Amino acid sequence: MTRLIFLGPPGAGKGTQAQMLCQNYEVPHISTGDILRAAVKENTELGRKAEGFMKSGELVPDDLILGLIRERLNKEDTANGWLLDGFPRNVEQAEFLNALLEEIDQSCDAVINLEVPDDVLVERLLGRGRVDDKEDVIRNRLEVYREQTEPLIALYEGKEQLKSVNGDQDLDQVTSELTKIVES
Ligand code: ADP
Repeated sequence: MTRLIFLGPPGAGKGTQAQMLCQNYEVPHISTGDILRAAVKENTELGRKAEGFMKSGELVPDDLILGLIRERLNKEDTANGWLLDGFPRNVEQAEFLNALLEEIDQSCDAVINLEVPDDVLVERLLGRGRVDDKEDVIRNRLEVYREQTEPLIALYEGKEQLKSVNGDQDLDQVTSELTKIVES
């Protein structure tokens, strides 16, 4: 059973590592960023509401995100586990998740904090070329991360669920450290 939360700043490599682990352990990769980008592409109501926030590097309002997570974690394919990538991203989302997991009688096995220095993050993001990877937007995303998401590190540390991994290493090295955590 694998139930994991991936924390870490934008550009830390959450998406890449999450994809790899989810393939290996056959659990769904639940990325709120991917879900939102798909909604924007398909021009759904969610996409139209979320697009402006994403383009400026702000968090999309919780009322657009929470219902989506509830629905996703109630799907059958989550029976053997899940990996949350990009959620929770603020204290309210973390509290919502806590209550939701209790309600569906599940618990999270570990919260993984992928650590990467700021200068490396900026360099990686600038090289990626997504619409929200412009310098001023990147700066705002990092600021939003520090203000709203980083407090979750202490929160999960307090629950003794946090595992920190150095994300500033070869992809394979990071994957192998993550695998050890999953299998421990
Ligand atoms: P990154 O981690 O590189 O910033 P993501 O794909 O996780 O990229 O997120 C991209 C954007 O999608 C965020 O800047 C934000 O606007 C929106 N987003 C993703 N997940 C959430 C969330 N849990 N709550 C609010 N907004 C979110």
